[in-house]
Amino acid sequence: MQYLKNVVNKKQTPQSEPIPDSGQVPNSAGGHTWAVDDWTRLERFLVLGSEGGSYYARERKLTDENIDSVKRCINNDGERTVRTVVAISEGGRAPKNDPALFVLAVCASAADERTRGLALDALPKVARIGTHLFHFVEFVDKMRGWGPALKKAVAGWYLDKEPYRLAYQVVKYQQRDGWSHRDLLRLCHAEPKEGHEGILRWVVKGEVTESAGKLIQAFEEAKTADEKRTIELIGDHSLTHEMIKTEHLKSPKVWEALLEGMPMTAMVRSLGRMGSVGLLKPMSEGSKTVCERLGDLSLLHKSRIHPIQVLMALLTYRSGKGVRGDLSWDVVPQISDALDRAFYSTFQNIDPSGKKFYLGLDVSGSMSWGNVAGSSLTPRVGAAAMAMVTARTESLYYMAGFTSEMVKLDITAQDSLQQVVCKTDNLPFGTTDCAQPMLDALKKGILVDVFVIYTDNETWCGDIHPSQALQMYRNKIGIPAKLIVVGMISNGFSIADPNDPWMMDVVGFDTNTPAVISDFATH
Ligand code: CA
Repeated sequence: MQYLKNVVNKKQTPQSEPIPDSGQVPNSAGGHTWAVDDWTRLERFLVLGSEGGSYYARERKLTDENIDSVKRCINNDGERTVRTVVAISEGGRAPKNDPALFVLAVCASAADERTRGLALDALPKVARIGTHLFHFVEFVDKMRGWGPALKKAVAGWYLDKEPYRLAYQVVKYQQRDGWSHRDLLRLCHAEPKEGHEGILRWVVKGEVTESAGKLIQAFEEAKTADEKRTIELIGDHSLTHEMIKTEHLKSPKVWEALLEGMPMTAMVRSLGRMGSVGLLKPMSEGSKTVCERLGDLSLLHKSRIHPIQVLMALLTYRSGKGVRGDLSWDVVPQISDALDRAFYSTFQNIDPSGKKFYLGLDVSGSMSWGNVAGSSLTPRVGAAAMAMVTARTESLYYMAGFTSEMVKLDITAQDSLQQVVCKTDNLPFGTTDCAQPMLDALKKGILVDVFVIYTDNETWCGDIHPSQALQMYRNKIGIPAKLIVVGMISNGFSIADPNDPWMMDVVGFDTNTPAVISDFATH
């Protein structure tokens, strides 16, 4: 047996070394993993962004790496790149639209003319509101010149809208990033079509004429209106809170009128404000309206509100005070509960697969640093919330945390999201060994069809690679268990062996992910 010590063992390799002949690359933590392909990385970037960087890479470095990867995607298939951006943005699959607008700007500045054209054609699908347009312009302005095609696309963003839709956009979202609609309309020399003339005149010259339409007239009147008239204007013209005088935003009656036609995302963001002015009290009509809307599945899906936005709103609302500490309110328990349920409803519908799931959460030090998609959630708290979606759907699951050893989580599918966040937040830190879930299941003899591991893929300190531990589990237990890796950071690594058809990478907090997990488990 002495000889074996000098032979490379392909079945058990320490994570500090690559598995021989596997194509593994070094990750940022001193371990070895596979590099994900550029398409997977593109999806990770579109959903998770690179705001705040990761434990291992500064924001700038992570962004630069992602841009390089986007450029390779464009060179490989520009059309598919644009299609991916549109699918994730339009489908409401990402917590923030900024990465999609950024990648669209990269595509609109590509060397390949066809890709540029497709990207500009897709502008209204990805930039759906005025703020999106300003973000896109801020990105693209730094990447390319203002040629005729770009001017035409920006002009089209305005002129292809029905007059009322156009008026709503220019009144509600007036400026951002140092750009205003007036700047853009002048830059792209938009020639107004019928019905647009009065609106554009108001934007560029500030003149209110009959042909500017009723919304703009009401907005102008609201600038000097008293409370009673403001409430009438809100009722008659669906003015939003951005369109009325700040002093009226202290009035519960004004908020009551606003709530009537308030879009879902604005409602979820304004719960604290409506609580602090006294509209949302225990058992009040306002509270009842909010709960009913949060329980309306078709409203939720139509609004494209993302589960992260719901979760952030839940955590803020339950705390009873604003993030900046300027507002406070009494928490209505029914609203908390409605937000908790809405979180699950905002993911794509999932059919239970009936399989046995081992949900393994990487709770190591690196997962407690940084944030998920620019929110204040750490990756490990985000991972726990994601795991809850599968735990709530599937009857057969086991959820456990790991660092370089197993960590007791004490979370069940019946826990509220608030409890899940608290329990995960308070866990101790540790180093990382992503093979732990498979080794744990092997040691305890747990029968598992699918291991789902939520991680940043920065594994390094184990004696055996996760893919080898899975192989060992399959051989010894006799179940051809699958492995799904849920990437929580937009880096380029994965513990999933790309050559094994039963291992797969998915992206954390893509609203499709729980459905993809269930589907992969079934087939
Ligand atoms: Ca780690």
